[in-house]
Amino acid sequence: MPSDHTTTMPWPRVLGQKRVKLMLLNAKRSGRLHHAYLFHGPEGVGKDAMAIEFARVLQCDTGGEVACGVCDACVKMATLQHPDVHLVTALPVGKNEDAGDGPFDKLTQDEMKSVRAEYLAKAEDPYHRVSIPRATGIKINSIRDIRREAPLSSAGKKRRIFILSNADMLTDVSANTLLKTLEEPPAHCLFILTTSYRDEMLQTILSRCQQIRFDPLSESQIQEGLTARDGVAAEHAALLARLAGGSYARARELTGDDLMGERNNVLEFVRRTVAGHSADVGKIIDLVTDEKDRTRVTRFLHLLLLWFRDALVLAREGRIINIDQREPLERFIARYPKADIPAILADCDRAISLVERNVYIKLILYNLAGQVKAHIS
Ligand SMILES: [Zn+2]
Repeated sequence: MPSDHTTTMPWPRVLGQKRVKLMLLNAKRSGRLHHAYLFHGPEGVGKDAMAIEFARVLQCDTGGEVACGVCDACVKMATLQHPDVHLVTALPVGKNEDAGDGPFDKLTQDEMKSVRAEYLAKAEDPYHRVSIPRATGIKINSIRDIRREAPLSSAGKKRRIFILSNADMLTDVSANTLLKTLEEPPAHCLFILTTSYRDEMLQTILSRCQQIRFDPLSESQIQEGLTARDGVAAEHAALLARLAGGSYARARELTGDDLMGERNNVLEFVRRTVAGHSADVGKIIDLVTDEKDRTRVTRFLHLLLLWFRDALVLAREGRIINIDQREPLERFIARYPKADIPAILADCDRAISLVERNVYIKLILYNLAGQVKAHIS
C-alpha cells in the first residue's frame, strides 16, 4: 500500500481539509466509491475545490492518487472542459425554454458570455463563487440534461462525474427529478453535490448521498492561502485570516475592500460615540452609509462587533483579533470598566439583522450609537 500521501498533505490545490482528502483517497484506493456524495459545511472552505480536484484525480490518465497535470484529461480539466466532468450550477432560464432544450440552448449571447467567463474563472480558481445574472436556481433543464447524459458510457471508459455546486439551489422540481437518477444511478456515474445550506435541501436527496462534512479552515491555512495564492503581505494576511472566521473565500472578499479604512471608521465611531458628540458621530454614519450599500454597512457592523468582542476578550486577557488596535482597546476598558459589553454585542447583532430587514440604515446606526453610549457606564 502506498503510504507517503497519508503523511504529507495530498492535493495541495485544496487548502487544508486533510480528513476529507484521506477519506476520499481511501475510497479511491479501495475501489469503493459511493455513487453520490454531499460535501457540506461552511461557505468558502473548499467544497467545490475538493469536488473539482477529486474529479481531476479520478479522470487523470495516470490513474494515480494525484493528478499529473499534463495528460490529455488533466489538460481538459484545466479549463473544466472534460467531456465526462459536468459542472452544474444555477443558470438563468432562457426565453421560451421548453423541456427539449439543453440548459444553454435558449440563453442570450450576453448570458452565454457571462456563463463562459464564470466557468473559466472557476476552472482557474476553484474557490471562485460562480455568479451569473438572473441565475436564481439550478433549473430543471440542467437536470434533464444530466438524465440524458448519465446513462451514456463515457468516452474514456472512466466515470461520468456530475458536480452540482450549491445544490441547495436546486428548485423543487429539479430536486425531485434529480432524485430519480440518484435512486437508480448508472454504475459508471459519480455525483458530487456541494452545499453550505444542507438544512435547506430535501431529506430524500440527502438520504441518497454519502455525506461528508467540511470544517472551517484554520487561521494559518487561510493565511497560507492568502500569501501563496493571492500575493497578500504576511502581516495583512494574518489579520484577514483572523477576521474571516474559517472561510478562505470570506478572507479573499475582505482583501478586495478598503478594510483598513473601514476599521478606522469603526474606531472613530466608537471614539465619537463614547465622547457623546452626536454631530461627530453623524459624520461617521454619513461616511459609512454614503453609498447606500447594505453589504458595506453590514460589514461595518461586523467589524464593530469584532471590536467590542475584542474589548471583552482583552478584559479577560484573551487573544484579540484587532491586534494593531490593542492600545485603543486597552484605553476603552480602562476608562469604562463597567461597560456592559455583552449588551453592546447584542445591540450590534440586532443592528445587523435590521440592516438585512431593510430598515432605514442611518436610523439603525444612530440608534446603535445611542445604545452603546447607554451601555458604557
Ligand atoms: Zn493527468
